[in-house]
Amino acid sequence: MRIRTAHLYPDYLNIYADRGNIAVLARRAAWRGHELDVTAVSVGDGLDIMGYDFLYVGGGQDREQLLVASDLVARREQLLSAVDAGTALLAVCGGYQLLGRSYRNLGGTELPGIGLFPLETVAGSRRMIGDVLLECELEPGVPRTLAGFENHAGRTTLDDGAEPLGRVVAGFGNDGESGYEGCRLGRAVGTYLHGPLLPRNPWFADWLLAQALAHAAGTAAPEPLEPLDDSFEAEAHSVSARRAERRGGRL
Ligand code: GLN
Repeated sequence: MRIRTAHLYPDYLNIYADRGNIAVLARRAAWRGHELDVTAVSVGDGLDIMGYDFLYVGGGQDREQLLVASDLVARREQLLSAVDAGTALLAVCGGYQLLGRSYRNLGGTELPGIGLFPLETVAGSRRMIGDVLLECELEPGVPRTLAGFENHAGRTTLDDGAEPLGRVVAGFGNDGESGYEGCRLGRAVGTYLHGPLLPRNPWFADWLLAQALAHAAGTAAPEPLEPLDDSFEAEAHSVSARRAERRGGRL
């Protein structure tokens, strides 16, 4: 199947090799005979983002977030309807913050977000930097871990009742206090985890692919993907997890 993918602002929001997540999804899709058909969508281009199976946005410094914020808000209705209609989505760090209601940056400027995720973010003076390890359960009864790297000034507060992506085992996560990281809304996930995230967390890459394929097929329940030999990925995951346990979450 062809997985129609829109990569938002690849020329502005791409730090810590966040675009590597697209490369991983493309390769893991191809290994199963599918094609990740990627369209770059950036500031000022009139591209309609309805009808995609997967939407992706990476992270970026305050400066780049300021440059894309109003363009993103102009696409608010399309983004909310797309996710409402079952499009899968991954947003990393600066992109994640702008999919909440707002991000007040280090300079005190309040950047409007689109309010997809029930949260808001305010930058603090000390950056939260380091390796992170999470426990999460995207499929009920199937606990898993996610390992990655974070670097953010933003402290994100989820609304009561909002679903986090996972529980912080090591690292700062959303705000260094709540013990939670990221946010999940059906097939849409926001996270502070860079790295890039997906090479060292193949199960999560496959979870996203399965959601996007379900949207492409017009089915509600995602089909499990044929397993791959992920021994290298598993090694990368455990190295990253051990590093997080050793030194994650220290200001
Ligand atoms: N500029 C935002 C912050 O500092 C996001 C940083 C990022 O994407 N790594 O919190």
